[in-house]
Amino acid sequence: MRFPAEPFRIKVVEPLRRVSREERVRHITEAGLNIFAVPADTIYVDLLTDSGTSAMSDNQWAGIMMGDESYAGSRNFYNFQKAVRDIFGYPFVIPTHQGRVAENLLFSTVLKKGDIVPNNIHFDTTRANVQHQGAEAADLVIDEGLDPSSLHPFKGNLDPAKLDRLLTEKKGRVPLVMLTVTNNSGGGQPVSLANIRQVRVVCTKHGVPLFFDACRFAENCYFIQQRESGQANRSIEEIAKELFSYGDGCTMSAKKDGLVNIGGFLAMKNEEWSKAITNLLILIEGFPTYGGLAGRDLEAIARGLREVLSEDYLAFRTGQVAHLGDLLDQAGVPIVKPVGGHAVYIDAKRFLPNIPQSQFPGQALVVALYREYGIRAVEVGSLMFAQPDEKTGEMVYPKLELVRLAVPRRVYTTEHMRYVAESVIELFRDRDKLRGLRVTYEAPVLRHFTARLEELAPEPATR
Ligand SMILES: *Cc1c(COP(=O)(O)O)cnc(C)c1O
Repeated sequence: MRFPAEPFRIKVVEPLRRVSREERVRHITEAGLNIFAVPADTIYVDLLTDSGTSAMSDNQWAGIMMGDESYAGSRNFYNFQKAVRDIFGYPFVIPTHQGRVAENLLFSTVLKKGDIVPNNIHFDTTRANVQHQGAEAADLVIDEGLDPSSLHPFKGNLDPAKLDRLLTEKKGRVPLVMLTVTNNSGGGQPVSLANIRQVRVVCTKHGVPLFFDACRFAENCYFIQQRESGQANRSIEEIAKELFSYGDGCTMSAKKDGLVNIGGFLAMKNEEWSKAITNLLILIEGFPTYGGLAGRDLEAIARGLREVLSEDYLAFRTGQVAHLGDLLDQAGVPIVKPVGGHAVYIDAKRFLPNIPQSQFPGQALVVALYREYGIRAVEVGSLMFAQPDEKTGEMVYPKLELVRLAVPRRVYTTEHMRYVAESVIELFRDRDKLRGLRVTYEAPVLRHFTARLEELAPEPATR
């Protein structure tokens, strides 16, 4: 159960406020049982997301002071471009202020109505951006990737046979294949180099380009180094370079493995696409050397991308998340195994077997974690993904009903993780007290961000 202790020491502290249960009950009720709508300063340990929540290093903060805020040609852009080219190897680098803008620019340029985009599993913004173009998002993860108890070391792998079949049957309708490393919506599970090579072969056979959703590329590369045969003696940077060499480009949210609070980019080999995207970028994000970011942000990303390749950092990072998972697992809490790179995922179907998916067991668990313990988690299940079938109108529920405990990078100590584990374990013992929920308001897309819900009345006691 030992893992590498923090490879950093603390220079600045941010006090946390502890609030009463009474106050939390008031906030979560006013929020319509939507955890996105509670004030963050009423939360003790915030595991909503690992996105944009990283602590930056002294080196990155020093870089912030080196911001060159020239409208065009800022020196920070060149540092950023060089870091991306060095690691990812794609010549055309387009900054954006978030990952979803990179997705939107790419898909609005290359997709048309009726197209299909395969992926291992689309992340929610990726799926929404594909569908926004009138295209279809196809999830082709290996079967083990949908089995919360499978111990496959690379559960993020995309099934090359499924891909080959889809590209054969839907010939001409697939402008690109995406591959998400690590597979966020499937539990933060990695994709192996061997699988990426196979996917590349299938893409080449059908003449379709391959793009990575690269948000957690460094964590994925660390798992390759640790788990894939023949990779143990290679550096993270070497592995990353090989991984990206099999692709034609990537979308990236720097808010993950860029170790920054805001930023993203698109990088690619295709000059035509990059030109068309750059024109759109100027229309909606900004000039090509800043793309919606300040010069100082670009500098922080440039430095973050190099720091994230540190093996000491990645051993601690993935070790801290695994430690939280071990504590829960040993107490019998059902979690997705093996534990992924950035989060521990609780299997809400098994945690709350008496609450059907139509009553949002994952969200019920999220609400209870905040109300009872001041912990914020997020549902990755029916509230996020259930959609009515286009033809029958019947609700289609996702296979996995998960609650994600996402661990921000370099932010919380191991003692915080212990507090979270003890809280979840206590709630697991009291799980019979939890009730199902029902939606009272929802938006047409990405409803989980703004939905309002209420708790269902307790079942009348059976005679
Ligand atoms: C976060 C994320 C995105 C979107 O990035 P944003 O910066 O939040 O817009 C896309 N794909 C994956 C896998 C992600 O984790």
